[in-house]
Amino acid sequence: MKPGQAATFGKSAAQFLVGCVRQTVAAKPRAELDDGQLEAVKQWQQVFEHNPVMYFMVDPAGTVINVNTFGAAQLGYTAAELIGRSVLDVFFAEDRDFVRACVALCLETVDQSHTWEIRKVRRDGSVLWVRENAKTMLRADGSPVVLVACENITERKEAENALRQSEAYLAQAQELSHTGSFGWKAATREITWSRETYRIFQCDEGSKPQIPVMLQRIHPEDRLAVQRTTGQAAREGKDYDHEYRLVMPDGSIKYVRAVARATRDSAGHVEFVGSVSDITATKEAERKLRESEQRFRDYAETASDWFWETGPDHRVTLISEHSDTTTPPGVIGLTRWDIAPDADLEPEKWRQHRAALDAHIPFRDLVYRSRDRNGQTIYVRTSGKPFFDADGNFLGYRGVCTDVTAAIRADQAEEALRKAQAELAHVTRITTLGELTASIAHEINQPLAAVIANADACVAWLQRNPPDLKAARRSVEWITEDCKRASDVIRHIRALAKRTEIEMGPLDPNSIVREAVALVQREMARHAVSVRMELSSALPKIFGDRIQLQQVLINLIMNGIEAMEDVRDRPRKLTIRSAADGDDAMLVSVADCGVGIDEQAIDRLFTPFFTTKSGGIGMGLPICRSIIEIHGGRLSAASNQSGGATFQITLPLYREQAS
Ligand code: ADP
Repeated sequence: MKPGQAATFGKSAAQFLVGCVRQTVAAKPRAELDDGQLEAVKQWQQVFEHNPVMYFMVDPAGTVINVNTFGAAQLGYTAAELIGRSVLDVFFAEDRDFVRACVALCLETVDQSHTWEIRKVRRDGSVLWVRENAKTMLRADGSPVVLVACENITERKEAENALRQSEAYLAQAQELSHTGSFGWKAATREITWSRETYRIFQCDEGSKPQIPVMLQRIHPEDRLAVQRTTGQAAREGKDYDHEYRLVMPDGSIKYVRAVARATRDSAGHVEFVGSVSDITATKEAERKLRESEQRFRDYAETASDWFWETGPDHRVTLISEHSDTTTPPGVIGLTRWDIAPDADLEPEKWRQHRAALDAHIPFRDLVYRSRDRNGQTIYVRTSGKPFFDADGNFLGYRGVCTDVTAAIRADQAEEALRKAQAELAHVTRITTLGELTASIAHEINQPLAAVIANADACVAWLQRNPPDLKAARRSVEWITEDCKRASDVIRHIRALAKRTEIEMGPLDPNSIVREAVALVQREMARHAVSVRMELSSALPKIFGDRIQLQQVLINLIMNGIEAMEDVRDRPRKLTIRSAADGDDAMLVSVADCGVGIDEQAIDRLFTPFFTTKSGGIGMGLPICRSIIEIHGGRLSAASNQSGGATFQITLPLYREQAS
């Protein structure tokens, strides 16, 4: 309170005392007092000394003329210690100007009382807050004296400070938590807001919160709902808790949540005390969470036919419904091995799967048989990942399933086709071998004839007298060699004729060419065909099946021989070439100088059953092409400029990882 601010002494003891002192002191000197008056002075002195109010009398210079015992004691002094000292000594240095001004004001306004609150400093340095009532009165000699009565308000001040501090803390907490508070008296429509509430609504702190202003801030789509909620709460005196949007002056949207408790004042009117929180960030996070959840759901739905969840006991707890055509019906509560009819047929696969589940490790691409809604067999591919709670406890698995029936059926069809092709290849091989009978017979006959000749010779050597054992032994050795040769030929033919299974391995391309040529050597000789081999030395290996690749070469050579059947005007020449083709492939070509190929026929050569020969089947080239393609290569045909045709095989070179 500022000096000069008038305050009445009211019923205070100070006023009474000052009155008495003035009356008594102004009347006469002490010596002239009668007994009754003396008694009264004594009594008033007692009151002055021991009244629990601090009294000071200060002269115009600010010197303490008198102080009561209580007043001095409150400051840690005796009265004698303070009397004669400047009153300023019991004030803080920074407050002294204020004290001087107060004293000056009192002196200027004799008989007017003034009041203010100020700190005093005790002898021990501690603070004593006082409310001072002061008034200048004139003594008998006309000199002024300032009478000051002080009331200890330290406790109140401390409480006020504590309150101020806790209000500051609250304001800070509200700011940090983006939560403001409000009060609302429904009957009088009076609203109070905390600073943070003003900030949330972006309203001027000086303005009084008005319901129409508030409604103006609320998003038009939410306004009605807010009015309904608050109106009903006010009518029924009930708590409320609602969320709505604000449209801020810059057009941005803010989400708030208001929670209010209803109370009633002494007159029974409904009052609300509540909090209002800015939940924009939470809403934004929720929106993002939903978005990311939706994104992953979209991924899962796109990547799979359905997704699933199983519990800690591996029983299905959830199946997504985005595709209901193939989802096996009634699987909730079942384990995967309950669902799959192949569980008993492939025990090892399922044992491994269950071991992975028990170890709580992810699994990928488990394919199993199941049944769709119509009871049809389907093949399902599934992958899953374990999931855990915050404490790391295993909760189950989540994963996706895809119906791979079509792919499996295609694989099965391809396998069947491959088998059929192998069978067909086998048949054509037998056919080719049939055509090669003369050559083969010759290959075998030749050593057999030699065996007979040598056996005859051996007998002759033995019949000599004395028998020429040395020569006989040599004949027997030749017999053995020829038998071996015959047996080698037979073994090779059997391999060609019998085997249908593919055996892949690293192979030297030139040795395949040589072996194939050796088999048809006789055939070429029979048709007066000369062969020229231009084999590139040091070719890297290729990866493939020896017999199949030889079959291709034999086919191409036989076709070449046949194509030159009618050639009379020029030598029947077959050129077999091998060469590198870039860094990672090699090629083998078989060129003849036969009838050649019509441009229109080139595309059709490799289609099954295309033949221009009277006894032809038209399966040789399609089989050759499929064999080469299985080997990752290409087989093509072209007409030669100088007549005849060239068939070219390209094959990839062998890489370690291909084995
Ligand atoms: P086929 O020998 O039973 O006819 P192929 O599939 O081996 O079956 O050959 C199909 C057709 O391709 C032959 O009938 C022939 O018209 C043609 N052809 C194959 N090789 C040659 C070649 N070297 N020169 C000319 N035409 C060929």
